[in-house]
Order: sequence, then structure tokens, then C-alpha cells
Amino acid sequence: MANFERKNPLTGEVASSAVAMQTADIAGICEKAQAGFEAWSKLGPNARRAVLMAAAEALESRQADFIEAMANEIGATQGWAGFNVMLATSMLREAASITTQIGGEVIPSDKPGCLAMAVREPVGAILGIAPWNAPVILGVRAVATALACGNSVILKASELCPRTHEIIIEALADAGFPEGTVNVVTNAPEDAGEVVGALIDHPAVKRINFTGSTEVGRIIAKRAAEHLKPCLLELGGKAPLLVLEDADLDEAVKAASFGAYMNQGQICMSTERLVVVDAVADAFAAKLAEKVMSMPCGDPREGNTPLGAVVDIKTVNKVNMLIDDAVSKGASLLAGEKSDTVLMPATLIDAVTPEMNIYREESFGPVVSIIRAKDEADAIRIANDSEYGLSAAVFTGDCARGLKVAKQIHSGICHVNGPTVHDEAQMPFGGVGASGYGRFGGKAGIDSFTELRWITIETEPGHFPI
Ligand code: NAD
Repeated sequence: MANFERKNPLTGEVASSAVAMQTADIAGICEKAQAGFEAWSKLGPNARRAVLMAAAEALESRQADFIEAMANEIGATQGWAGFNVMLATSMLREAASITTQIGGEVIPSDKPGCLAMAVREPVGAILGIAPWNAPVILGVRAVATALACGNSVILKASELCPRTHEIIIEALADAGFPEGTVNVVTNAPEDAGEVVGALIDHPAVKRINFTGSTEVGRIIAKRAAEHLKPCLLELGGKAPLLVLEDADLDEAVKAASFGAYMNQGQICMSTERLVVVDAVADAFAAKLAEKVMSMPCGDPREGNTPLGAVVDIKTVNKVNMLIDDAVSKGASLLAGEKSDTVLMPATLIDAVTPEMNIYREESFGPVVSIIRAKDEADAIRIANDSEYGLSAAVFTGDCARGLKVAKQIHSGICHVNGPTVHDEAQMPFGGVGASGYGRFGGKAGIDSFTELRWITIETEPGHFPI
């Protein structure tokens, strides 16, 4: 089989190469996954737990390899790679812990002598499609809870970080899953549509989870709908962080700069909109601009800057266009600027209005907008003026007020006095609207990866009308 190459975004050198699988290869992988399912699903919960715990150890022990691969393939900093390994390890431990918690219930039946049960069962082979931006976290998330529930998995690796995703598969292989339980598909970018289509179409694949762009999420959901296969979709975002007049501005600035610029703004939960009430907007903008100017970007392999490289020149062009468009329509640049290279400076734009493209479009880069609001009600209105709804945050000195505001924001996730970027293995993670549907994480994830069946046992003679 031929290989395809991934180039280092900063140096242009070959960062990795992987097998360019074709549609003809898909049936064999799905059949292996079906055989793996038959073996793995028969194991008891403590046997599955032991393998998942071993997988967590194996993953953690590969930290140095992940740091190197992520710097080379996507320009990630050591800090981001280290956080990826930590959270992904935690996801495997959380998955191990739930194997004995996949309970059902006994439901009172009106029929005399009828014992009625709701029973959770594994589904079969699950296809997980993961992106490049938080590659260890999202690659592991695509498979961990599915495995805990007794399913086999096929990880469709990202074309932008095939080596990073392959290290996950190597670590899982070391943990001792039965043959065929954990599978991987790698493909050249130009084959993505066909290869993913063939995977969705194969009868052994029972469910699909996809983390990536809203555009591709729609393609996947349509294809899956042709077979009536359920999907879990974790898509794009345009997270708002609201700053009300009673907020601790220093705390809000810390959360805003972390949420907007960690991993160069390439996180689905990245703060994209700072919605600030007029009364504190000037003070907040000045403090944040000062902080942003103290956050340089640099070669991630040198490991001494808070920002590394963005993933490719397409991101640079997109962010440059958003900056140009906003400034030409009256926005002001408080910090940062356009860039010619993948080393993009942290950029802060003030006075953004709905006429500007950056008001609605996900930038997925190191640029954040300040949108000024008249008051709390106006800030909530602006926060909800988006097709997306993944994460959100509100800063206020009054927690009760924060909770009231949080309840009025249309999003899957909202943090009071915390950044929009926050993820823990045991939390229900997912969005609404164009950010997708379904939930990963902890107990909520069990719903996504099991079939809930109704099973009865009759203990008395039957009485029927005919
Ligand atoms: P992408 O949608 O471009 O690619 C994701 C995957 O889709 C890749 O594996 C690719 O092979 C596949 N793909 C591409 N074209 C396809 C096609 N025509 N048919 C079927 N599959 C196809 O996303 P990306 O650029 O890798 O990731 C960035 C996006 O992911 C951003 O929008 C970001 O917000 C989102 N994201 C969401 C979450 C979340 O949890 N909600 C997390 C991280 C990233």
C-alpha cells in the first residue's frame, strides 16, 4: 500500500508518513472489528477494566513521543501536548472505572408476574473520527467509553497527525485488548470522503462519533442517516465569555487570555467572543491588551513561548482575512497583527459588530473579538446570536447572578467565573445547534455507546383477549 506524508507546518520537512488506505481496505478492517467485538464484549467488567487501566499506563508512558510528534505534525507546544496526555490518560481511567457502573433497572410492570428490565448492552463496532487539534484527547475520547461499554472500535485518524494517532493505537495494543478490538484507519486527505463513506456504509459499523468541523459533521450525519445509524457529533464553536460590570477584571483577563490563545486558539471551546458590558469595557480591554502583548509565539520545539505554530497556512490566510475585514469595517486592533507565517501573534480586536465576518465565523486561530454590550440582557442576547453552542463563560462578582445568566445561554457547557476551555473526563461534554449533538464523558457517555433494551420474564400463566 502507498503512503502519504504529513509536513511539519513550520519547517516544511516531512513530519510523518502513514498508509494511504483505500475503500478496498475497509471491509477487511470492519470484519476484524466485528471479530474483536465478539471476543471483547464477552469479557466481564473487571477484565475490561484491567485492560483499560493498562492502556492508561501505556499511554502515559509515551508522553515524550507524543510531545515530539505533536510539535512536528501540528506545531503544538509542550504544554499542550503534556495536557493532552494527562487528560487522555484520565479518560482511559474514567472509562475503566465505569465498566461496573453500566447498570440497568427493574421497572414496575402492570402485568401480574412480569419482571421487566431495562438492560444496557454493547452495540458492536463503533467508528470514531478524530481531528488533529487536541489529538491525544480527542483520539482517546473517540474510543475510550465505547470500549468500556464492550464495543470494538475503529479510530479514523486525522490526516494532519497520523503519527500522533498511531502512538495512541500502539499504546492500546500494548495494553492487551483481544485481536480486532482496537483498529485504525489512515488515509490521504484527498481520499477522506470515500474512505469515511465506506466505513459508515459497512454493516459491522453500528454507530459513529465524529469530532471535527460542522461542515464535515453534516456530511457524516447525512451518510449515517441513510443507514439509520446513530451519530454523536462534536463540531465547531464560537464560545462567548461574558464580562459583567461587577466582574473581577483580573480574573476575567486571565481566563480570557488562556481561553483565547491556548493552543493558538485551535480548541473547539476556545474563547472567540469577549462580550463585555460598556461600564467595564475600556478597563477590561486595556488590561487584556497588556497581557496579550506579553504572550509571544515561537517554535514549539524550543519550548519557551506560550504560543506555538498554527496548523497550516490556510489558518493563517483565514485569520488574516478576518482581521482585514473587521478593521476595514471599523474594528480596532488592540494587540497583535496579521502574519505571513504559521507563527501567528496573539491578536485582540475591539469594537467588533455583526457586519464583520469575525462576529459569526469560527476563526480557529489566535484571534479574539471584543463585542461591547449595553448591559446584562444585551450581553445574553449577543452570546446567543450564534448558530454555535458548545462552551460559554460568564464573569460576575455575584455567583447567583452568574447562574441565572448561565441558564439563559444556549450552549452545552457554561462556566461561571471560569474559562470557556475546561474539560474533564467525567463531565458530560457536548454542544447544541451547529456545535452538534450527543455527549461524551463519564456516565453520559454510556448512553452514547450502549443499546438500552427492554427484557421481560413472565412468571405466571398468560391471559390473552384472543
Ligand atoms: P475536519 O472536519 O476538516 O476534519 C475532521 C475529519 O473529517 C478528518 O479525519 C477528515 O478525514 C474527515 N473528513 C474530511 N472531509 C471529509 C468528507 N468529505 N467526508 C467524510 N469525512 C471527511 O476538522 P478539523 O479541521 O480536523 O478540526 C477542526 C474542527 O473541529 C473545528 O471546527 C473545531 O471546532 C472542531 N472541533 C470540535 C471539537 C468538539 O469537541 N466539539 C473538538 C475539537 C475540534
